[in-house]
Amino acid sequence: MSTKLYQEPDQYGYYGEFGGAFIPEMLFRNVEQLKSEYLKIMYDQDFQQEFQQLLKDYVGRPTPLYLAKRLSERYGFNVYLKREDLCHTGAHKINNTIGQILLARRLGKTKIIAETGAGQHGVATATVCALMGMECDVYMGEVDIARQAPNVARMNMLGAKVIPATSGSKTLKDATNEAIRAWINEPLETHYIIGSVVGPHPYPDMVARFQSIISEETRKQLFEQTGNSLPDLVMACVGGGSNAAGMFYHFLEEPTVKIVAVEAAGHGVNSGLSAATTQLGAPGILHGSKSLVMQTSDGQVIEPHSISAGLDYPGIGPLHAHLFQSKRGTFLAATDEEALKAAFELTKLEGIIPALESAHAIAALAQLDAKVKDLQKGATIVICLSGRGDKDLNTYMNALKSY
Ligand SMILES: *Cc1c(COP(=O)(O)O)cnc(C)c1O
Repeated sequence: MSTKLYQEPDQYGYYGEFGGAFIPEMLFRNVEQLKSEYLKIMYDQDFQQEFQQLLKDYVGRPTPLYLAKRLSERYGFNVYLKREDLCHTGAHKINNTIGQILLARRLGKTKIIAETGAGQHGVATATVCALMGMECDVYMGEVDIARQAPNVARMNMLGAKVIPATSGSKTLKDATNEAIRAWINEPLETHYIIGSVVGPHPYPDMVARFQSIISEETRKQLFEQTGNSLPDLVMACVGGGSNAAGMFYHFLEEPTVKIVAVEAAGHGVNSGLSAATTQLGAPGILHGSKSLVMQTSDGQVIEPHSISAGLDYPGIGPLHAHLFQSKRGTFLAATDEEALKAAFELTKLEGIIPALESAHAIAALAQLDAKVKDLQKGATIVICLSGRGDKDLNTYMNALKSY
């Protein structure tokens, strides 16, 4: 049994009551193989050497930890930004895809499939497939294909096949369904690179470990800059929860560090157009694990809404469901409007154009005084700036008139 309360799931992949592996029989061999091999492979010396080298020379790590002075002044905290927006391909997603493709190669796989929402995970996957010379199919909702055209072009140029998901709301949830369906049809030679801390065990744990480089670096960098490796609070936006898991990971077992996750409230948590899973969800099974899911009383998944394609997901990783239920984490929500406003504010104060997803985390700065107990003014806060805003410029241009 693990002595870690939050960081590691049990041997069946459960964080508290959430997690597990609910998969069709056709995927059993693949998932079992992954489960029995992933830790051995990930912590093998050769693997670590190759992984760390690529993170450094290809991704551009370590990413800076930047004290945002003007933003700090505005809110009365010492706000540091962990600059995942400066990673190759523009977001934190590449940390995980580099890790998983190295793992897939060691498992003898020859083909990769992936799902994508905003297209960031699709681009990150297509990128590592080009790097390793592997075939790549990316499933993407038709609606997302329309609103994330630049990322679709990138995937095409990188040699990936972008396959439109035409069911349901034609967004991330549906792309995930279709990717899983495709995996069932060709399971043995194909590895499915899931883009967040969701899916059947061991995916949530594996992805959290690959992304934990974010908090590992943060501890070191904060120590170098302040003489203290522990901030008072760490905060990140949550779609499925991978950048948040990476930002929280090495602070989860530190009781003095407050954990804040920010979900997308869309038009408002109770508007019917929202993706605030912990506020609206109930325990259920989605995409292979038990977690909190937005659903009707008879278990139909409710279509989520967010202005940002990367947060437009009706579930949340089991680690986060557990953080919510155990109250280790505080879960806030920011609306489309608030995220847009925060994106313009960060741009004007710091000269950094954030991804719309990351802007939700910035937006929550305005809620901390009211929503987080015992947080002093002047506290040290680290926000994961999960990605850059290039892909969202159209949305920003349309909003520009009002700001
Ligand atoms: C995909 C994405 C997210 C949401 O995914 P998580 O798994 O919750 O991190 C957040 N920010 C950016 C920039 C993304 O690309």
